[in-house]
Amino acid sequence: MDAEEFRRRGKEMIDYVAEYLENVEQRPVYPDLEPGYLRSLIPSEAPLEPESYEDIMKDMERVIMPGITHWHSPYFFAYFPAASSYPAMLADMLSTAIGCIGFSWAASPACTELETVMLDWLGKMLQLPESFIAGTDGQGGGVIQGTASEATLMSLLAARCKAVRRVQTYTSDKSEVEIFSQLVAYTSEQAHSSVERAALIGGVMIRKVPTDSNYAVRGDSLKKMVEEDKAAGLIPFYVCATLGTTPSCAFDQITELGPICNGENMWMHIDAAYAGSAFICPEFRPLLNGIEFADSFNFNPHKWLLVNFDCSAMWVKKRTDIIGAFKMDPLYLKHENQESGLVTDYRHWQIPLGRRFRSLKLWFVFRMYGLQGLQAHIRKQVALAKEFESLVRADKRFEICAEVVLGLVCFRLKGSNELNQNLLKKITNSREIHLVPCQLSGRFVLRFVICARTTESRHIQQAWQHITQLTFELLQEPNH
Ligand code: PLP
Repeated sequence: MDAEEFRRRGKEMIDYVAEYLENVEQRPVYPDLEPGYLRSLIPSEAPLEPESYEDIMKDMERVIMPGITHWHSPYFFAYFPAASSYPAMLADMLSTAIGCIGFSWAASPACTELETVMLDWLGKMLQLPESFIAGTDGQGGGVIQGTASEATLMSLLAARCKAVRRVQTYTSDKSEVEIFSQLVAYTSEQAHSSVERAALIGGVMIRKVPTDSNYAVRGDSLKKMVEEDKAAGLIPFYVCATLGTTPSCAFDQITELGPICNGENMWMHIDAAYAGSAFICPEFRPLLNGIEFADSFNFNPHKWLLVNFDCSAMWVKKRTDIIGAFKMDPLYLKHENQESGLVTDYRHWQIPLGRRFRSLKLWFVFRMYGLQGLQAHIRKQVALAKEFESLVRADKRFEICAEVVLGLVCFRLKGSNELNQNLLKKITNSREIHLVPCQLSGRFVLRFVICARTTESRHIQQAWQHITQLTFELLQEPNH
């Protein structure tokens, strides 16, 4: 493909993308296929001779689209949202074209510098404490990770390194491995599985703290566990609190947990993967009160802030904690400015070496929506969730299972878990809307999340009508 054809195909592709997104609601949101469907539709080996572009695009509809779960359909209400907007897509295209691998400042100064400034912009939108803002001479600052899981892992590894150094200052005869075996991390029993996974990768013990009736971790429960563990000779070193848990969007009480973490020398990381975007609205910002106690904080603009995957924003209070834990400096990666104290080399802040120019997406989205446009997006989606909640509450056969704070509604039919499993099965098989379940207090619960940017009130009304129709059918069945 030469530049001339690229121009032509590029314009066609933009038309294809716009057409796809504007009409995605007409496609079944969830595919109707058996596992392994794709292999039989394409050759078993790569072609020897080049094929035509037209043939490839024809295969998009024949091979690929039937196997897509349409996350951007306004009838998609599963998991948490995957953010998407046209400015972010255009910026991503540009990032691909520039194609730099910005592991150090020298590897593309704009890639590093824009990222630092964008994370400052975003930090200010969230009213993060000054200590998280890089500015020109701050000790903290932000970085874009690929995912919240990576941010959690990075924070846990940095905390592990800090704890080992601290313990070795008073017991220098203890090896690193001996200390690892005594370290213990804490997170909510409602936390995302990525937290437990981080501990598994980091080779440290993790304990799950029980939650209160709102599915939130309270200070007393953490304190009790920490005391027990210290008495047993263990070294508490890390707490991952969640703001907006995956099952029910519950908020751990970070104003209670923070002082305990600070007092016990435990690193406090806050995972707000989904809910974090809402903190740009003053009315939701109080949910972040207590952030001043944290060592690191993370949320995913790629979930709810109109920035396409991948873009997970992480801030640390002390950049030396994270850089000091992972620094490797082979000659081929050195550059003349690295010791000047003026530059950031993001390769020290993450697991991989390579990194895309992801801050371009933030820059385009922030400028084209403005803070007000982004706030309007969050508020609209919260209002849609409230609309769905009212529909559920008005039907006495159903119950709401957790407080609806943002865009997630947890609900179920009053009755057995089996009844609710059967309802979800019917919903999934109908392919008109898509939801996933969760478990709360041993009960099977349906999660309804406002996901697509284009979801409107009519989609909520239709979804509810669909759910009640399937409920009616289910309740007619003998032995339901
Ligand atoms: N933390 C929470 C609270 C989540 O809800 C999720 C995913 O939904 C994650 C972490 C994992 O996110 P990621 O895919 O960015 O690793």
